[in-house]
Amino acid sequence: MIATQDLLRAELLKSIQNERVTKYTKGNTKYTTLCSLCFLVSFVSNPEYACYGQGPFDLGVCRRGSAVAHNTTFSVPSWAFLHKQGARDVPLLRVLDHDRVEVSDGRVAGVVVDGEVRRADLVVDCSGRSSRVAHQLESSRLLAPPVTRVRIDCAYASGFLPRTAGDLEGSFLVCGTSPPTSFRAAAALPVEGDRWMVTLAGVHGDVPGTTEGDVLEFAHSLLSPAVAQLVEHAGPLSGVASYRFPSSQRRHYEKLRHPLPGLVTLGDASCSFNPIYGQGMACAALQAAALGETVREVGLRSEQLPRRFHRRAARIIDAPWAIAVGADFLHPQTTGPKARGTDQVNRYIMRVVRATHTSVELARTFNRVLNLVEPTTSLARPSVLARVLASGMRGRRRTRLDHPRVGPPGAA
Ligand SMILES: Cc1cc2nc3c(=O)[nH]c(=O)nc-3n(C[C@H](O)[C@H](O)[C@H](O)COP(=O)(O)OP(=O)(O)OC[C@H]3O[C@@H](n4cnc5c(N)ncnc54)[C@H](O)[C@@H]3O)c2cc1C
Repeated sequence: MIATQDLLRAELLKSIQNERVTKYTKGNTKYTTLCSLCFLVSFVSNPEYACYGQGPFDLGVCRRGSAVAHNTTFSVPSWAFLHKQGARDVPLLRVLDHDRVEVSDGRVAGVVVDGEVRRADLVVDCSGRSSRVAHQLESSRLLAPPVTRVRIDCAYASGFLPRTAGDLEGSFLVCGTSPPTSFRAAAALPVEGDRWMVTLAGVHGDVPGTTEGDVLEFAHSLLSPAVAQLVEHAGPLSGVASYRFPSSQRRHYEKLRHPLPGLVTLGDASCSFNPIYGQGMACAALQAAALGETVREVGLRSEQLPRRFHRRAARIIDAPWAIAVGADFLHPQTTGPKARGTDQVNRYIMRVVRATHTSVELARTFNRVLNLVEPTTSLARPSVLARVLASGMRGRRRTRLDHPRVGPPGAA
């Protein structure tokens, strides 16, 4: 993992210096449309930041004391670029667009590429939320896992701002919604090319607009003034693009009585969460590692492989699903199957979040849980409980806001 992290950082730096990312972006319309979306790559990070806030569920994140944020953030084009570069370096790996999977003798026997069957011992469907394979097998009634959808109707508007060293005191900023009264959230994350990626997000129809006026109006309505200050200081945002995410969606392959031998599904093709919580990549990576383990145990062609893997994967998905979908139920407008105990867990999590505003240690633990580095049970550790209780006893008074300075050192 450390090697991967170092490699990623080094590659990204090289790409930026050579401006290959920019060229790649310009040359590919698909990624150009996506380029206003930003990834906060939690699983290669070592988050050390503190939260601050003023509402019951706001989550402002800024640097505290000597703690420095170590999260790795970059835009989708550079992430895609790194993947393509990485893929090129793997011998025998070729990227092909498949049309469908080939099923024969009761098992998935390969994929069809340009009308030609490419045989495979195991097909791993990781083709994303709208997986063609899932639709093909469902419509042909070969594989129809139960699907859970929890509607959140999340809308993003994102754009870039120039970034100066020292902006936000070298940190970044996340400002969460405050349900049930506020549907609005935002983030300012540093990305390659000395830019800020500013994302405004609203749920349940509170859609951020894309004009300069819309952006500022939305930013000013947030719980923290820092996002609006940053836009005013370095704005206007360029290349603002919007994105809609209707619902978290989980295909329960682990519940199938008769999984299809020769096929497993992972990543967003299996489960895609509300992206606001930034857990999808970490979850997909953990599932990929679990697949490796399962293959080592039972072998590639084993009939047991799909069931064993999907049960393992389901245990990995459970935690981020509970966090993301559970928190979405803080909005009464959220619809879909709600796990028993969600309200109680949410009440506790809200107390944890309030306590993170004043405890850096707790903020770290909370972020490690959010980023799937630690299990959710870490939040029930005696030391965590003690901090949460102590914070509660100090009363529900508002935490004093330590907003990060917006401009570089010396700026007003
Ligand atoms: C707006 C937004 C912001 C997000 N922010 C974060 C974040 O900050 N942190 C985080 O961890 N996660 C984030 N996520 C979630 C993250 O993007 C996903 O969880 C992750 O990309 C899932 O990876 P995947 O490989 O399963 O699917 P995808 O990333 O969707 O990749 C699927 C790939 O399969 C390819 N494909 C599809 N069909 C075919 C075919 N027929 N033949 C060949 N190839 C095909 C697609 O082109 C695509 O490249 C965000 C998501 C969104 C939408």
